[in-house]
Amino acid sequence: MFWRFQRFLMGRNGSDELFFTTFGTGLVFSILGGLFFRPLYLVADALYIYSVFRAFSKNIPARRRENEAFLRFWQPIGKWFRFERRKFKERQAYKYFRCPACKQQLRAPRNRGEIEVTCQRCGKVFRTRT
Ligand SMILES: [Zn+2]
Repeated sequence: MFWRFQRFLMGRNGSDELFFTTFGTGLVFSILGGLFFRPLYLVADALYIYSVFRAFSKNIPARRRENEAFLRFWQPIGKWFRFERRKFKERQAYKYFRCPACKQQLRAPRNRGEIEVTCQRCGKVFRTRT
């Protein structure tokens, strides 16, 4: 029984980042559909069907391309979220500001008064308060 299932899975795409994202989003829509608006179940079902289709698909190169395109799209967004979370966590200890020349984000310890900053990216020297 189990070996049959294993053989069925051989040569199939399985789960990847796009699978977990579409399936997880489906779960969110299921919950929202239960709480607020029933037709959201249709969105959830579409996401489940798409997830399962991709996981059992034998066209692995095509599924891999989809996943890579998804990651290219998602990675800058994920990076932005991680950076904003870090800024929020460190808001007591560090002040974040931008270089006036190249707009690079910089940080300095708070409560040091007026300091001279050298941008690590473009070398611009400027003064700011922390
Ligand atoms: Zn700069």
